[in-house]
Amino acid sequence: MRLLLATFSHETNTFSPVPTNIERFCRDGTALLSGQAAIEFYRGTSTCMGGFLAVADKIGAEIVVAVCASAPPSGPVDSDAYEACCRLITDEVANGGFDAFWLDLHGAMVVEGIEDGEGELLRRIRAIDPNTPLCVAYDMHANVFDAMVSNAQIVAGYHTYPHVDQQQTAERAARALLRVMKQEVTPTSAWRAAPMLPHVMAQGTHMAPNKDLQALCATWEASGRALTASLFVGFPHADVEMAGLSAVVITDNDQADAQAMVDELISAAWKARKAFLFDIEPLEASVSRARQLGVPGQLPVVMLDHYDNCASGGTMDTTDTLREIIRQDLDDVVFFGIYDPDAVQQAIQAGVGTTVTLSIGAKLTMPQLPVASEPLTVSGTVQTISAGSFRLKGGLTPGLQVFMGPTVVLDTGKVQIVLLSRHIEPTAQEMLQVLGIDPSRKTFVAIKSRVHWRADLGKIARKIVECAGVGVCTSDYGQLTFRRVRRPVYPLDPDMQ
Ligand SMILES: [Zn+2]
Repeated sequence: MRLLLATFSHETNTFSPVPTNIERFCRDGTALLSGQAAIEFYRGTSTCMGGFLAVADKIGAEIVVAVCASAPPSGPVDSDAYEACCRLITDEVANGGFDAFWLDLHGAMVVEGIEDGEGELLRRIRAIDPNTPLCVAYDMHANVFDAMVSNAQIVAGYHTYPHVDQQQTAERAARALLRVMKQEVTPTSAWRAAPMLPHVMAQGTHMAPNKDLQALCATWEASGRALTASLFVGFPHADVEMAGLSAVVITDNDQADAQAMVDELISAAWKARKAFLFDIEPLEASVSRARQLGVPGQLPVVMLDHYDNCASGGTMDTTDTLREIIRQDLDDVVFFGIYDPDAVQQAIQAGVGTTVTLSIGAKLTMPQLPVASEPLTVSGTVQTISAGSFRLKGGLTPGLQVFMGPTVVLDTGKVQIVLLSRHIEPTAQEMLQVLGIDPSRKTFVAIKSRVHWRADLGKIARKIVECAGVGVCTSDYGQLTFRRVRRPVYPLDPDMQ
């Protein structure tokens, strides 16, 4: 059996000013991975590609990896990058000779001039090859358009957020497609979207309602009632027609039952729509509350600067939460982090042990927000300089090599500020440990993350305080101007019944 595998993944925040060019799709910032190098990079990792490779290896398939292009979330993908990555995949499709296509796509990719990046890719594949069996593993944050479902025999979405089942999702998709290829089953899909934009901070599967919705999907898959069942919470920071929650269920030749399961998921999600809202506490009050909760010598208070999470398209360089932490004089804090490659270079040139004064952050303007951040001037000692490259043992994707780029810790005496050269969400304790910081021993761990930190840093959180700073992942939808999303949609139109 000869298989074509590919990863082409981007979660697009249409409000983000962070550019999405071809360099951003390169894992280490230098080259797109493909072929044998991609296989070696991903084999044994807890990623979708790792899952595909595990199944392919088990059945002794011949593997061709067209490309592994995965970029951290940011603004719309530029056309050149999109066309280049698509072409790597469609050229292989055109070469022919494959028994199946296994694709790892995000599902919320927006391209300059194209709202549905994944659907467009699948249309192009099907225009060349309408028949070869095809499966897709999608992120739970997919904003589903019809072409993303209708052009695949099998689609499967993550069942967890934090996404700790990426590998398993790809394996479920691949195994279901293998059954299709053996003609054991006849895949029949149904899907529907609900007119709702769940808040990301209310989407975690550690709590209702999403925990229960995902459990329903897993139950149907385990019983065999569904080949795959997926509840996509959607990515709300994308002003596209189909942004929001949807469900896709695939059965063995039972259209009515596929539709019945979709309807049950959508109905349950809609009934729970108020539980998908998020209450916002003003920044000053939340930092003050955190200050009172902190106890030196005990496990930390985790403070979430979640409006500026780079894993949702944030610039990762807004300074407002850090500024408030300093203003309220919190002590024994690690703050991860501020994206500022220039400040990193200045600190590196000064050297470890040197005292420096730097203007950090707020270098990327956010024209789509009615509020702006300001650079922050800080003085401190350059404590650590790191190349920022290591292999994750835990967290979201154990086994995956991480490239944080040149990274510096600036110690102000009370706050250790991590300065970064690449956008990386702090999710694992290891990301701090490689910088010489044990987060479990800090009184406060302040991070630009929303939900994924729970995968590992969650283990050491004694208390959690959500801090509404400034950023394009704002939970205050009133700060965003939606023009394209279908209306009415809840909660932009709060009176919907
Ligand atoms: Zn996601």
